[in-house]
Amino acid sequence: MKKLDEEVYQEYKKMGRGNWGGKDLIIWKALYNGFLTIAKDEEFTPFTKFMLNIFLDVRKARKEGIPIIMHPFNYAPELFHAMDLSPFMQEIFSVGLAPLHLNEGYIDYTNTIGYGDNPTLCNAQRPLIGAQQQGAAPIPDLLFYLSTPCNSLAMNYQVYSYLTKIPTYNIDIPYWDYDDQNSEFYDEKTLDYVNQQLKSLIAWLEDKTKREFNPEKFQMTMTNLNQAREYILEFNELLKVKPCPMPSIAGFANWLAMVTKGGTSEGVEVTKYNRDTAAENVKQGIGGIEDEKLRIAWPYTHVFFDRDLLTWIEETLQAVVIMDLLGYYPVLPHDVSTVDKCYESLAKGTLDFSMVGTCRGMAELYVEFLLNYVKDYSIDAVIIPMQFACKHAYSITRVAAEAVRDQTGIPTLIFGCDPYDSREVTSETIREKISEFITQVVL
Ligand code: SF4
Repeated sequence: MKKLDEEVYQEYKKMGRGNWGGKDLIIWKALYNGFLTIAKDEEFTPFTKFMLNIFLDVRKARKEGIPIIMHPFNYAPELFHAMDLSPFMQEIFSVGLAPLHLNEGYIDYTNTIGYGDNPTLCNAQRPLIGAQQQGAAPIPDLLFYLSTPCNSLAMNYQVYSYLTKIPTYNIDIPYWDYDDQNSEFYDEKTLDYVNQQLKSLIAWLEDKTKREFNPEKFQMTMTNLNQAREYILEFNELLKVKPCPMPSIAGFANWLAMVTKGGTSEGVEVTKYNRDTAAENVKQGIGGIEDEKLRIAWPYTHVFFDRDLLTWIEETLQAVVIMDLLGYYPVLPHDVSTVDKCYESLAKGTLDFSMVGTCRGMAELYVEFLLNYVKDYSIDAVIIPMQFACKHAYSITRVAAEAVRDQTGIPTLIFGCDPYDSREVTSETIREKISEFITQVVL
């Protein structure tokens, strides 16, 4: 196992000291130092380096005056990279605090000031407002968000924008199909609707940052992006092999790469590393877990407050979680040989992005995704730890679970919890539910 070299570690440690460019980055800096401490004792991979750089990028941008643009977990930042901005995927902050339980104080504070409650507004989002009110949330220069996949997200970013007065741009994500002209849900205006909004976003960015959009740089970025998509497509195919060649958390790294570094050489490097590791394991007949007995579909987000849950599932139930909903990155590689095709690829990637593609419209999109997931990956059971506030997902997952049971006979466990707050439904209760489901229903 290749560990972090002591000299390199000391370099990283040095960067974790001092003023990062403002009091609002104190918690962000603490997250970096916490991650570095964990990374020191684990295998040092391109992914570890990439994660450390995500934190350091914000420090660099603040010190060098590069505009920081905040965006949510369901939008990939290729356009921002193409314009030499510093994208900051907000949920690394508001959700990244959850495994350390550092978000809980901010959730409590939002209760105190009367900003929503758990079943109304998701705790993936609420800590941002609590932290902002206490001066602990990073303050970007610009803010961007989408109308999908949930009202919690759209509401939270509106409130954040109002409180901080940061210049904000948001786009509306349409409901309908763009690719299958025979589909009853096809609407020829879908792609163009998104494309026009993205072009207006470019004009807005030029105006706000005084940076000129460069079509050549854009095309280079889109070429990188589609190279990474190709690696992920191959990676996703490799996970169909039995035993699954990668452990349960592996796919999540692809999504993290695309949502933070999509379009950069670092995104290409990480996705290639994942693909190569999976391919090598398949070649050598190595499984991601020892003695795989069950293959689980997890078509929803992880239980973020419990970072040992997947390892527990692997070791106790000899089950591998193939991919979560975000990790199942579904955007296919596109032709980007002209700038026009690059725009098209950008719009398609926005519509099909992890979770957006399955949750932006008709329930049929999600039902079809889950049915294919179960069939293609030889799934034995489906598990969905549902956030109380995720009202749209509650209904579509229930419909999809019935379709899966009817068409494949595979059972689904959907249970309410708060993946971001350990105090609502505890780790022990979640493990009991999963264990009971596997032993009494699946086996
Ligand atoms: S868990 Fe559901 S409600 Fe929460 S941010 Fe994700 S999509 Fe929105």
